[in-house]
Amino acid sequence: MTSIAANLQQVRERLRAACEAASRRSSEVTLLAVSKTFGADAVRQAHAAGQTAFGENYVQEGIEKIALVAESVPRAALEWHCIGPLQSNKTRVVAAQFDWVQSVDRLKIAQRLSEQRPAGLAPLNVCLQLNVDGGANKSGVTLAELPALADAVAALPGLRLRGLMSIPEPVAGFDAQRAVFLRVREAYEDLRARGHALDTLSMGMSDDLEAAVAAGATLVRVGRAVFGHRPLKDPAAA
Ligand SMILES: *Cc1c(COP(=O)(O)O)cnc(C)c1O
Repeated sequence: MTSIAANLQQVRERLRAACEAASRRSSEVTLLAVSKTFGADAVRQAHAAGQTAFGENYVQEGIEKIALVAESVPRAALEWHCIGPLQSNKTRVVAAQFDWVQSVDRLKIAQRLSEQRPAGLAPLNVCLQLNVDGGANKSGVTLAELPALADAVAALPGLRLRGLMSIPEPVAGFDAQRAVFLRVREAYEDLRARGHALDTLSMGMSDDLEAAVAAGATLVRVGRAVFGHRPLKDPAAA
């Protein structure tokens, strides 16, 4: 067994145990394998071990990898999520190549993605990225601005609003982690109460996925625990 296959098995076991502890079914939580900085071969190995959903942070790296992997794995067999900061000049390739964008935090980007989503494809799945713990120069919409952004994004024809994504500042300890994730959960439930048909609450990474599952995550984004430690990013390739 490759180490990626063994790692995947361990992460799935962690998810199973976390779901059991929270009295949730394992089928309620999707594992997104975050393959940033790893090559197409790592994605192929993970796919061979049964993984189908992959996340990328850097647009250029992501679209090159999507094309490379598609040489040996049918594109339709995989689901690619853009989870990194997105600039206006990158929306066109993202709208054409990805299945999901989890990092939408302003209307202008959402409008461009909607207009640029190719007509032959299903609407692009999007999550709004919520900045739940402050930090003025952090990405993500604030709690105060979230309801208006959700209403506007839900009205765009090229997009399908699926839920929220959040990357809280790391905190130590299960209870503290869960407390932050519960605030994201509350914002998610508030949007549902406003009438948005959401099904995706994306939170939790390698170090805190148990707390995220306890707080109701339906998708966890896991990099290092699946692929190993990330190589330092080559500055020349940035
Ligand atoms: C890198 C990254 C992850 C994965 O983090 P790990 O700690 O490697 O599991 C998840 N979400 C986002 C947005 C990331 O950038």
